[in-house]
Amino acid sequence: MIKMSGISPEIKSKLGLVQVYTGPGKGKTTASLGLAFRASGRGLEVLMIQFLKPPQDYGEHLAAEKVPNFTILPLGLDHMMSKVPKEKDIKIAEETLQRAKEEIYSGKYDLVILDEINNAMSWKLLNPAEVVKMLKGRPDNIEIVLTGRGAPAEIIEYADLVTEMNMIKHPFDKGVKARVGIEY
Ligand code: ATP
Ligand code: MG
Repeated sequence: MIKMSGISPEIKSKLGLVQVYTGPGKGKTTASLGLAFRASGRGLEVLMIQFLKPPQDYGEHLAAEKVPNFTILPLGLDHMMSKVPKEKDIKIAEETLQRAKEEIYSGKYDLVILDEINNAMSWKLLNPAEVVKMLKGRPDNIEIVLTGRGAPAEIIEYADLVTEMNMIKHPFDKGVKARVGIEY
């Protein structure tokens, strides 16, 4: 096996679980970014692939440029704004899954975060069985995180760790709009 990152075989041997952050409350993407920050500190090579998010106007894109060993690839359309036909959303989601597969199977990364991929599955842009198949075939010792609302049953079944963010309160409900540095 080609060892691409600088971490020791001891650290590497403990990696390889699948984590899921789902649910309606705030904190799924930011939890994965916190994990990326911690992993980077230990020398892990980290990649975040963003489904459904375009390459603009996210604080994490600006921050990732300053964090060693951390790359973000925003490969989606803006799911909040876009009025594109569903066929185009499906095509882009499938291309993004293909890219995720290439990056994961390259063995270059120790931790790969698939941000908002759960939404892509729950909106029927991606087939959960295809995602599970891709995950099952991956090289050993690569940790995977899947974020987004509505993680399907197949994903929850396959995962080793599932955390549900439960929405108790969100300021959106009293009219507070998304804020720079807090929501994006
Ligand atoms: P964050 O990126 O802040 O960790 P998230 O990943 O848990 O949030 P998403 O479902 O990806 O949440 O939500 C997309 C956007 O909506 C984010 O800007 C997020 O802060 C905001 N948001 C999250 N939860 C809620 C909610 N319950 N009501 C309204 N807006 C929300
Ligand atoms: Mg999110």
